[in-house]
Amino acid sequence: MEPSLPTKEQGRCIHCLNPTESPEADHVFPDSWYPDSTPTTIQRWTAPSCPDCNRKLGQLEKDLLIRLVLCTDPKSEAAAGLATRVFRSLGLDVANRLPEKEKTIRDKLRVKISSELMPCAEAAKLPGRIPGLGPPDGVSVQWAIPIPWAGLSIIAAKIARGCEYKYKNRQRLVTPPYGIRTFVNESALLPEPFASASTILDFGPGCKIRRVFTTEDPQVVLYWISIWNALHLHVRIDLETELLKVDQRVQKCEGIIPPKNRGMLISPHLRNVNRQAPDRE
Ligand SMILES: [Zn+2]
Repeated sequence: MEPSLPTKEQGRCIHCLNPTESPEADHVFPDSWYPDSTPTTIQRWTAPSCPDCNRKLGQLEKDLLIRLVLCTDPKSEAAAGLATRVFRSLGLDVANRLPEKEKTIRDKLRVKISSELMPCAEAAKLPGRIPGLGPPDGVSVQWAIPIPWAGLSIIAAKIARGCEYKYKNRQRLVTPPYGIRTFVNESALLPEPFASASTILDFGPGCKIRRVFTTEDPQVVLYWISIWNALHLHVRIDLETELLKVDQRVQKCEGIIPPKNRGMLISPHLRNVNRQAPDRE
């Protein structure tokens, strides 16, 4: 089968692939996820998104940022300033008095997040602690917070779609027959032969991305995404027929947390959401 050529079109949303009359600039790596240690010389890539996808992805990024940062070492250079940002968004550590309306919004968010905390002892019995997240060695904490895999998967796919669009100005949209799957890695270490064949996309200390493509079909691309030097994901863009074979090999699991080292299997419902823009529950 002839691989389809990159689609070069302006005015199409790279996420839902629908034409949009008023494309917005969606940050490939979420803007609020860049740590304070990011040099000003780093180009914060953006790619065209329809207003609807941009808004929904923005909400998802905001929710995930809180959860992920609560599980990331606040002293890490790669996550500098993020904990302060998150605490403020929860109405904590706010120096000046906030306007009443803003205070209510932050209080509500804090109550919501607090209500989802579970004792670490209880969480330890569940499978699927995400490698790289959680307290540094030797530090004990009392609470754990659930992190929705579907959300992580959607954001990883979003980053990959953005990179495919921006990389060498290809303006590629990932369209059928190609699809996307996300997996979680134990570390940032990229195995050979991929490592020496990869191109590094530098988003600063907060996000390092390596891109590898296969020579037989340049549309088949792997992305290794390391976020805050803590969360390591990889994204595979391949023919949907190939991805279906992978789906069969990865053990399916229920719930929000898969066993470690497994692909993030998300329900067909959410996978459709992935294509059409995420929906907030
Ligand atoms: Zn869209």
